[in-house]
Amino acid sequence: MGYRCINLLTIVSLLLLFPVINGWGIDGHLTVCRIAQSRLSEAAADAVKQLLPEYAGNDLGSVCSWADEVRFRFHWSAPLHFINTPDVCNYKYTRDCEDDTGEKGRCVAGAINNYTTQLLTYNSGSSQADNNLTEALLFLSHFMGDIHQPLHVGFASDKGGNTIDVHWYRRKQVLHHIWDASIIETAEERLYNSNVDDLVDAVQKNITNDWADLIPRWETCSLNKTTCPDIYASEGIKAACDWAYKGATEGTVLEDDYFISRLPIVKLRLAQGGVRLAATLNRIFQ
Ligand SMILES: [Zn+2]
Repeated sequence: MGYRCINLLTIVSLLLLFPVINGWGIDGHLTVCRIAQSRLSEAAADAVKQLLPEYAGNDLGSVCSWADEVRFRFHWSAPLHFINTPDVCNYKYTRDCEDDTGEKGRCVAGAINNYTTQLLTYNSGSSQADNNLTEALLFLSHFMGDIHQPLHVGFASDKGGNTIDVHWYRRKQVLHHIWDASIIETAEERLYNSNVDDLVDAVQKNITNDWADLIPRWETCSLNKTTCPDIYASEGIKAACDWAYKGATEGTVLEDDYFISRLPIVKLRLAQGGVRLAATLNRIFQ
């Protein structure tokens, strides 16, 4: 113990108090990946097992937030987690999929296409290529979650709700974080024994009991494409306008009304993310 140790503790507690703002929180990403892994074909399950790093122990969910952890080390990857529209409730790839410098394709939809294309080389891969394909799998799994977080396809002027200060019950928070984590955390505390496994089970039950008829439509891509992020992004900005931004302007106190009406949307988007990640991986590893 000593000064140095205390400093480290301070840094760790600051990190816990102010988590990095990006994508579903750890539990949201874990839910998407657990759902996806439970729906893989035999061939896709084998390929995922081969590609996962050893420390993941064949649990895709445990490495689903890796892309957030390397966001600063791989500085180039930061713009790949989201899309900004010019403050309109619709999305167009050619108009909106670019980074700050205007480089085209550098957004979460472009990243999903890119890592899908990389993974399609799996069957011809050398060991060097396999290394990169591990990263491709982790990026794809993470970005499929991100694109389903409504405020990851948000308005440019407020950075997807990152500049809108609200209160979540009594706590000051930015709107973006409400959708990354707060709704999920409150649901876990109140409904799921503070346990992410119970949340995963609840979403799985929704998929089986309530949304079964919708699954084929969620899974299908037009024109026999392997993945279709433009559809996911279009749904995302619509959900952002209809549910996330609605009634949540600067200074709003968000509490039970907002929580109860938005939780089903969060669960739906987690379910769609998981189902589509599985469908995409099943098409990649045929
Ligand atoms: Zn992310």
